[in-house]
Amino acid sequence: MDNINMRVEKVREYIKEKGLDGVIVSSWQNVWYLSGFTGYGDAALLVTVESAFIITDSRYYVQAAEQSPDFELVKGNCASSKLMKDLMEKNSVKRVGYENLAVLYSDYCGYYKALDAVLCEIGDLFDRLRLIKSAEEISAVESSCDLASDALIRILPEIKPGKTEIEIAALLEYEMRVAGAEKPSFDTIIASGIRGSMPHGTAGKKIIEPGDGVTIDFGAFYGGFCSDMTRTFFVGEPSGEMRRIYNVVMEAQQKAIDEFRYGMTGKELDKIARDCITFAGYGEYFGHSLGHGVGINIHESPAVSPGSDTVLEPGMIFSIEPGVYVPNIGGVRIEDLVTIENGKLRVLTKRPGKQLTVL
Ligand code: ZN
Ligand code: ZN
Repeated sequence: MDNINMRVEKVREYIKEKGLDGVIVSSWQNVWYLSGFTGYGDAALLVTVESAFIITDSRYYVQAAEQSPDFELVKGNCASSKLMKDLMEKNSVKRVGYENLAVLYSDYCGYYKALDAVLCEIGDLFDRLRLIKSAEEISAVESSCDLASDALIRILPEIKPGKTEIEIAALLEYEMRVAGAEKPSFDTIIASGIRGSMPHGTAGKKIIEPGDGVTIDFGAFYGGFCSDMTRTFFVGEPSGEMRRIYNVVMEAQQKAIDEFRYGMTGKELDKIARDCITFAGYGEYFGHSLGHGVGINIHESPAVSPGSDTVLEPGMIFSIEPGVYVPNIGGVRIEDLVTIENGKLRVLTKRPGKQLTVL
């Protein structure tokens, strides 16, 4: 059974288990996940035990037929509740599941209330389905990682004094697009010099200066899946303190990767890296989680954080991204994506290496 059929089958199991007549899917992420349709935001699905429909308009008739051959095409505006209501009546759908975690309150009050059906929250159904990736999905994320890291390697010679952070971001995004990425998986973060102490400093007009640490956090959205990686490079010789910080972060990341054991929870893995950074005296400067799940969304389950009781399991993909950010000095973050195979973490981000690099 292919990925799409397997996913639809799981939703049908849920429909039966919960005594529903069908589920409406409207978020672009889950429309793509369930049907393969990439006209992001311009389609809605109705899935019942017997049938599966995709509602989209004339801009996408050909595309929907190609990408979602197992879904019956219903021609029209996906935002029309009248169309959905008629479709539901024809298919005797009276109790319907909807994405209560994704639907806007205004849509709930307008579109959904107008359906004249019993509305049932599906909660985190899709989060749970998407949490465990198939071999094919893992390889799609890996391709996205490769595309992004290759783009980074191509622009390394451009990271030099005189260039602005925005220029570096633009070059990186250009290289990813040329290589086939649909878009960056989020706004590229480039934080240089003391701006490096802002963990999520979006690329700005700052000019890169000699001696700056340059933290680059970015990813590609490719084949429907995100990648996410961070490297901190130095443009010219770093200060003694920045060198120390870099080595602590690198050690913390490596320790978390090496000391992962099968059955660990998110908080246990987080603690390995956090203890290492705390022991080195920088605990107060590591304010975020060690990692987060990555898939269709750049941030999804599982959380790898001090509060996460989620057991990390094969098929999950998440980041390992310790960082130290010292105000007025600078920051370092190193981030790779990993999955669990044979009881160990396998790093999906293959390059460039993580040794301290002076450009
Ligand atoms: Zn990142
Ligand atoms: Zn991340």
